[in-house]
Amino acid sequence: MTLHASYDPDNIFAKILAGSMPSIKVYEDPVALAFMDVFPQSEGHVLVIPKQVEARNILDMPPDQLGPYMHRVQKVARAVDAGLSPDGLVLTQFNGAPAGQTVFHLHFHIIPRWTGIPMGRHAEGKMATSDQLEPLAKKIRAGFG
Ligand code: 5GP
Repeated sequence: MTLHASYDPDNIFAKILAGSMPSIKVYEDPVALAFMDVFPQSEGHVLVIPKQVEARNILDMPPDQLGPYMHRVQKVARAVDAGLSPDGLVLTQFNGAPAGQTVFHLHFHIIPRWTGIPMGRHAEGKMATSDQLEPLAKKIRAGFG
C-alpha cells in the first residue's frame, strides 16, 4: 500500500527542502540536496534526496530525472570517500514501509564503513547531536574539493 500511495507534501524531507525543518547540509544544487542522517548507522551517514519532484520512491521518479539525481548520489558518495576515507561504502534505498522505508520522499543512504566497526541497524539508531554531526559534515564538504 505505501508503495503506491500519493505523495505527502508534509513529509520530513519535504520540510527540510522547504527550509521549515533544520538539517546539516553537505551538498545542494538544483537537482539534489544531501544532509546528515540524524539517526546515523555509522559516522558520516548521509542522505541524498531529489529536489523539485514529488517522488516517494524509485518507482515514482520520472526516468529523465533519475540519471541527473544518480549523478549527485555518486558525487556525494565520492565526497564522503574523499572526506572521511572509509574502508567501504554502503548505499541503500527502500521502497514502501514493508521494505523498511520510513520517510516517503525518495532518498539514497550513503553509509561509510570501517573494517571491524559494525554498522548500526536501519531505523534503530540513537539520535546524534549537531556537535557530533557538524565535524563530519565539514570533512564531507571538504571532500568535494
Ligand atoms: P528510510 O527509513 O525511509 O529509508 O530512511 C529515512 C532516514 O531518515 C532514516 O535513516 C532516519 O534516520 C532519517 N531521518 C528521520 N527523521 C529525520 C530528520 O528529521 N532529520 C534527518 N536529517 N534525518 C532523519
